[in-house]
Amino acid sequence: MAEWSNWSGRQTDSPVAIVAPTSESDIVEAVAAAAITEMPVRAVGASHSHSRIAATNGMLLTLDGWQGIEAVDTEAQTARIRSGTRIFQLGEPLLEHGLAIRNQGDIDRQSVAGATSTGTHGTGPSLQNLSASVEGARIVLASGDVVDCSPAATPELFEIVRHSLGAVGLITELTLALRPAYRLHETLWKEDPASVFSRIDELVAATRHFEFFWMPQTDACACKSLAETDDAIDELADRKLERIGWSHDVISSTRDDLHTEMEYSVPAHVGPACFNEVREMILRDFPDLQWPLEYRTVASDDMWISAAAGRETVTISAHQDITLDDRPLFEACEEIFRRYDGRPHWGKQHYQTGQELAALYPRYGDWWRVRDEHDPDRIFVTDYLSSLRP
Ligand SMILES: Cc1cc2nc3c(=O)[nH]c(=O)nc-3n(C[C@H](O)[C@H](O)[C@H](O)COP(=O)(O)OP(=O)(O)OC[C@H]3O[C@@H](n4cnc5c(N)ncnc54)[C@H](O)[C@@H]3O)c2cc1C
Repeated sequence: MAEWSNWSGRQTDSPVAIVAPTSESDIVEAVAAAAITEMPVRAVGASHSHSRIAATNGMLLTLDGWQGIEAVDTEAQTARIRSGTRIFQLGEPLLEHGLAIRNQGDIDRQSVAGATSTGTHGTGPSLQNLSASVEGARIVLASGDVVDCSPAATPELFEIVRHSLGAVGLITELTLALRPAYRLHETLWKEDPASVFSRIDELVAATRHFEFFWMPQTDACACKSLAETDDAIDELADRKLERIGWSHDVISSTRDDLHTEMEYSVPAHVGPACFNEVREMILRDFPDLQWPLEYRTVASDDMWISAAAGRETVTISAHQDITLDDRPLFEACEEIFRRYDGRPHWGKQHYQTGQELAALYPRYGDWWRVRDEHDPDRIFVTDYLSSLRP
């Protein structure tokens, strides 16, 4: 037995074996070995999910030996990327081709397959999550077949793979849609919540990315906006609260303080009301909370199980210290999120059952049907995933 834990250490498991492939044929071999013995098998990227989505007591494949960019198509503005590649490994090589990924989350430590498998997103009302950038994928199925998925050739399988929850096979490559490289001007400031919400639409519309962290101890919002710019660094007025750089240097931050997290996506138009209800609940019921709430926006998409499917979205994240029981805070937040038609982030904590999730996504049953067709013996389904089955 080996031991595995996620980034925070909150989720642990004891895989039967940990395998570290360095080629696609190693991955095919590992899946074949698991299939013959009907052993559950799972890949992890950076193990940064807060939920048990990456946990397994079967065979675990770590993909740090399977990284790198296979090919860049500058004309189509796409790149074919090995699945274990971390997002921070993409910035400089893509810049050499004059390209960049369209958006990133708060950090850049995730693997591309891990991030797309859970619908990882950044902020920006015109920017979809990372799964929506997937244009093609290569996957090893339980049958041992290696399939090139695309919307034209394998529409239903492609739909599952681009937002996979690790549940349909081992992704070996992803083709991501990119955009021309771009620079961003970051501005940081503090503002009280009443003031932020008196002009929230204006703030969200003013730049490409706007977000804030609300700090319960001070009842203040630490705001951040990122605007596309061609300016040089010398043109900054205040270098403590502003910076300019390439998108991959500016968007993501370092998050070293271990925590657990719950995040819900709500329809954008109820975002402010939902946020304020959670804020009031925290001030009343959790006066000692030392961790912030984060407020971001995500553009609508058409994926079957994306938290932003079919609606412009606001995401609200609650955090708790890793030394404390997160359940009281998260249950209290979830009770509010549910009333605002919230959908949980697939890589973060939540307490929804499969039947409840099915009510949130019209195509949820289809997602599971297609998954089951490609893995009838359920070697890619763990106990946690079974709890999400409708
Ligand atoms: C500090 C921190 C900051 C974060 N910031 C954000 C943020 O800004 N925005 C956001 O949306 N989320 C954020 N998250 C959540 C995180 O982006 C997601 O949980 C993401 O899935 C983590 O990527 P990973 O590579 O660690 O994947 P893992 O946690 O290792 O795996 C996630 C899922 O992907 C599957 N998987 C991984 N590789 C493969 C593969 N090759 N084939 C098939 N399945 C695979 C796994 O089996 C699992 O189901 C953050 C998490 C942390 C800890």
